[in-house]
This record gives sequence, C-alpha cells and structure tokens, in this order.
Amino acid sequence: MQKVFSHSSLSSFETCPRKYWFRYVAKVQVDTEGIEAFVGKRVHEILERLYTFVGDGMVPSLERVIWRYHQNFQAAYQPERIRIVRSGVGPGFYRDQGARGIQNYYRRHYPFDADETLGLEKKVQFRLDPAGRYAIRGIVDRIVRARDGALEIHDFKTGRRVPRPEELEADRQLALYEIGLREELGEKGEVRLVWHYVGADRRLESQRSPEQLDALRAEVMGIVDRIRAEETWEERESGLCDWCEYRPMCPAFGGQLPELPAEAAALEPQLDLL
Ligand code: SF4
Repeated sequence: MQKVFSHSSLSSFETCPRKYWFRYVAKVQVDTEGIEAFVGKRVHEILERLYTFVGDGMVPSLERVIWRYHQNFQAAYQPERIRIVRSGVGPGFYRDQGARGIQNYYRRHYPFDADETLGLEKKVQFRLDPAGRYAIRGIVDRIVRARDGALEIHDFKTGRRVPRPEELEADRQLALYEIGLREELGEKGEVRLVWHYVGADRRLESQRSPEQLDALRAEVMGIVDRIRAEETWEERESGLCDWCEYRPMCPAFGGQLPELPAEAAALEPQLDLL
C-alpha cells in the first residue's frame, strides 16, 4: 500500500493529532466546508482559468473575469453545507472579499506577459528518501519561468492575514514543492518561492539554500515518523477548534468518537491528497 503525505496532512497532525486521526485514520466524511475554503477554491479556479486563456493568446477583460467568478460562486454555493463561523457576516461578505482579491491580482499583473506559465494546478509527487518510505504530494498553483531564467513556484492565498517575513522564511509548503520540482524538472538554477496574498494585494518572495532544503527533508521525515508511531491522538484545543469540522464529535467538546473501522485500525494511515 502506498503511503503518501501532504503539507496539509502534516500540518493537520501538528495542529491537533485528533483532527489528523478524524481525517486520515478514521476517514470520517464531513459534508460541510468552511466558507474560507469555499471562497479560496472559487478564486483559484478563476485564476487558473484566466491563465489558461492567457496561454491561448486571449486576455479576458476584468469585467468578464469577475462575472465568471460570481457565476461560479452562485452555482457552487449550497447554504446547507457551507459553514460560516464568524458572527455578523454572511456569504456576501466573503464573496466580495474574493472578488476584490481577483481584481487586485488582475490589475497588478495585467497584461500577464511578464513571465511564462509552465504549469497550472500541477500535481507533484516525490520521495524524500531513496527507499521511498517518505513520499509527498501536493498541487502547485502555478509554475513560472521568469524573464531572468529563474523557476518560480507561485501560490495564491486568499486568507486575510499576511505572514511576517520570518514566517515565510520558515514556510514548508512551497519549499517542499521546490524539492519535488527540482527533481522532476531537473532544475539546477535559481528557484524562487512566490506567494500572492490577493486580498491584501501583496506579493512575497523567498528562496531556500540547499542546506535549508536538506534540513526540511529531515524535519518532514521526522514528522512522518511521529505520525507512524502515534497511538494516543491527543485533542489539542486552540482557537482553530471553532473552524474544525470534527468539533461536534470531538471528545474535547463532549463529542463521541466514531468507531474505527477494523481495516483502518490495522493499517498505517493512508493519506489523501491535501
Ligand atoms: S475540535 Fe479542536 S481539539 Fe477537537 S479535533 Fe478539532 S482541532 Fe482538535
């Protein structure tokens, strides 16, 4: 059985082992989605579509792009399955936030000819060790060849908070993708990690040295070892519990753990993509 980890599954374990257990060991299906994730998906699909048009030699107008975003939002929005935690705001607030982010991005990058797109929503999968015991996968929002020849790994962020520079220097997700893409593309030159915080209209960059990538490799293998050795799956309460889809069944909030299927108990966690 293949066992593949993702940045998101590793983060889930670090945030709260019980949450990881719900999602990746017991595989509890929850048919609801937080509004933040819902809007993030709509913004990502619009930016992917925009760059697909650009690749075909057509740059749609901003009005058309925003129109499409609203169409997609309306078509996908199901009030009964979208969770809104913050009080006093409705879906319109989040929808408009997403639209503003797209506008910011469009205006900053129009006419989209400053670089070359090599891939959109590209799946990457790679091993951290020669034996393949530590496999990682993920999806890169956009892979870019910059004018100066550098390879860039771009990530679109729709959250409101923009991290401090030192937090980005320690960010794991894009650095992991760098390890995978260097291997897959045989890239030996400069690689830049680029985050677009579209709501705040900020573009942030960082680079990793070979030593930093080696240290990351070792760190991630250590987390995988901890997951594989885990037995207690502690509930780790934090402010994030309000956004946790498993809260109604979490023992920390008086919930009852679901029965673990026999086959799940016998197997090492099989991790799903993102
Ligand atoms: S509600 Fe909180 S403590 Fe419970 S699983 Fe979710 S994140 Fe963990």
